[in-house]
Amino acid sequence: MKKLVSAGEILVEIMAERIGQSFLEPGPLLGPYPSGAPAIFIGQAAALGQPAGLIGAVGGDDFGRLNIDRLRALGADVSAIAVHAGHATGTAFVTYRADASRHFVFNIRNSAAGLIETNAAATKLLAGADHVHVMGSSLFSDRAIAVALSAIETVRAKGGTVSFDPNIRREIMQASGMREALDQVLARADIFLPSGEELFLFSSATDEKGAVDELLARGLSCIVLKKGAAGAVYHDHHGAVASSGFAVDEVDPTGAGDCFGAAFVSFWLRGAAPAEALRIANACGALAVTRKGPMEGIFPLEAVEAFIATGNTP
Ligand code: ATP
Ligand code: MG
Repeated sequence: MKKLVSAGEILVEIMAERIGQSFLEPGPLLGPYPSGAPAIFIGQAAALGQPAGLIGAVGGDDFGRLNIDRLRALGADVSAIAVHAGHATGTAFVTYRADASRHFVFNIRNSAAGLIETNAAATKLLAGADHVHVMGSSLFSDRAIAVALSAIETVRAKGGTVSFDPNIRREIMQASGMREALDQVLARADIFLPSGEELFLFSSATDEKGAVDELLARGLSCIVLKKGAAGAVYHDHHGAVASSGFAVDEVDPTGAGDCFGAAFVSFWLRGAAPAEALRIANACGALAVTRKGPMEGIFPLEAVEAFIATGNTP
């Protein structure tokens, strides 16, 4: 089976318990939960049985251990996660507003996560990789951008493939060079997985069909538009395949896009038809939102298949 690799932020997430809760005053918090978009992605891919590894860095603290233990338990290759004693693991504090939007307080660049590098372990992991997945949120510093671009070059040079989820977080977008890096990654991608309005950040078209046609003409193999509870639509040079979402009670939306992407890319790498890859991906995205915490709704393939067959959540 093909091995997939991602590189980027490994964080713990601390969540405000109440909708509309402000971080400007004390309030009840939930967590820590293992997190970081590429970590969620790699954890879900591994849970589905795909060989998958992550390049990143954590501190020599409980939060770092929490992340490494979880990824290992899910079956991921953690050999290229560096542990930096003397640095703290990165954090993401999230609070949900009444309009369902999210507000994050991130500590990424100045945490252990910011020390990401293409060291010997990362080079070794990439030597065995067939596919690289890049999250836009992972392009948080010059250093992180260099790691992502070099991973792409290494894997493409031996005929491997690339997927890209913009995963835009306004709180990280201020990083210098990020906008240019987002475009550079897209230009090298085979699979593009935007959600909602993200599609229009990369196209001059103002309608969905126009944007999809323009981006496909630039050399992508396919575009998968994530549409929250409504499911997703796949586009390639032959046409489109739509797949409606699964009905679940959403308790926490964070992580859905990462779990969806992991499932889609894993099944694309296995040669599954678009409709089949979309079905598993929609199921993983739906399951992700049924649990508080971005990785708590990751389940193995057997549980995902049982959910698809019965509609009952694990
Ligand atoms: P993230 O918050 O992780 O960045 P995203 O914005 O990238 O998510 P979404 O479109 O919110 O992506 O969700 C990805 C997929 O997860 C959807 O395409 C769908 O399959 C599934 N999903 C998300 N929310 C729900 C929901 N409420 N009910 C059922 N499925 C959902
Ligand atoms: Mg996302």
